[in-house]
Amino acid sequence: MRWALIGASTIAAQYMIRALRAEGGEIVRVVSSSAERGAAFVAAHDIPLSGSSVEEALADPGIEAVYISTTNEKHLPQALAAIAAGKHVLCEKPLAMSLADAVSMVRAAEKRGAVFATNHHLRCSGSHRAVQSLIRDGRIGRVLSLRLHHAVHLPESLQGWRINSPAAGGGVIPDITVHDADVVRFLTGEDPKTVVAQMAASGLGQGVEDSVMSVWSMPSGIMVMSHESFTHPFAGTGLEVHGTEGSIFARGVMTQNPVGAIELVTAAGREAVPYDSHDLYGEAVRRFHAAAAGRGEPAANGWDGAKSLAVALAVREAALTGAAVDIDYGG
Ligand code: NDP
Repeated sequence: MRWALIGASTIAAQYMIRALRAEGGEIVRVVSSSAERGAAFVAAHDIPLSGSSVEEALADPGIEAVYISTTNEKHLPQALAAIAAGKHVLCEKPLAMSLADAVSMVRAAEKRGAVFATNHHLRCSGSHRAVQSLIRDGRIGRVLSLRLHHAVHLPESLQGWRINSPAAGGGVIPDITVHDADVVRFLTGEDPKTVVAQMAASGLGQGVEDSVMSVWSMPSGIMVMSHESFTHPFAGTGLEVHGTEGSIFARGVMTQNPVGAIELVTAAGREAVPYDSHDLYGEAVRRFHAAAAGRGEPAANGWDGAKSLAVALAVREAALTGAAVDIDYGG
């Protein structure tokens, strides 16, 4: 599949270029709003073309798919233009700044028959799939609660728009809570119903939150406790799922790499749970390529991205108002 990258971004440089190529993708061109940054980017990554016009890239009939990894406020116009040009789209999370915008992107892709996927990598990881299998196989009985620990330290190189620009979609809620919402939906097969939350700026956030804690109720009665932050250098990440017959402790798994350890605790004792260590982003690309070839769905489709955004927006509203918020999934 021939790709254009819209966005000379860190995530493209650090993970997605490698993942696209490993899965047989050919990266033909990059669009950057800065001609200099675009030229430097393609030189560094051995990509033939750069340019600053999205329209010009989309007019290239050789391009079959675009990967959008610009700042969040740009996803909507760029995705709509790509869909209108007949391209398949892999879009970064959060899909958009509002639920209505995200839904309009998903609907436009449906209308055009384009594959539209959200880059929620965690559901692609072997560790999260192993946790899902334990739950599905009934190893912990009826699920009672989930606790997500996703408080990390934002690297200095990323301490730009994420911590100081509401207009670009900054804040830890659009950045990380969306991922946690997707994990919870993936593991439970349910859409969160109601949330309460508190948020803070605890050292990095300037005009946006850098930390949030929230509690979600699920339709079946499962309770979820979720913590996201940019300011915790040593907290580590983790995921716990507690059931009537056992508990799953997955430590260090809320990450971009296939690392961490899973332990199942039941009346029979403690056991380490093995999992597959494939590349998370490579798996997302593999599923995307298959979907574009007419085989199945992407790992996380557009509705998954819209729903994770809906949860995140509800968390922010709950934190702003101090009230319990019923999640509006629009669509
Ligand atoms: P970056 O800040 O690295 O890149 C975002 C945009 O900022 C780029 O498109 C680029 O604009 C511009 N930019 C890049 N470098 C510079 C610079 N030195 N000076 C000025 N502007 C610059 O963001 P990320 O890669 O961290 O995130 C991009 C998107 O990907 C976001 O939507 C984010 O939420 C998502 N993301 C998803 C992850 C996942 O695991 N799914 C992980 C990390 C990010 P231009 O393209 O115009 O050159």
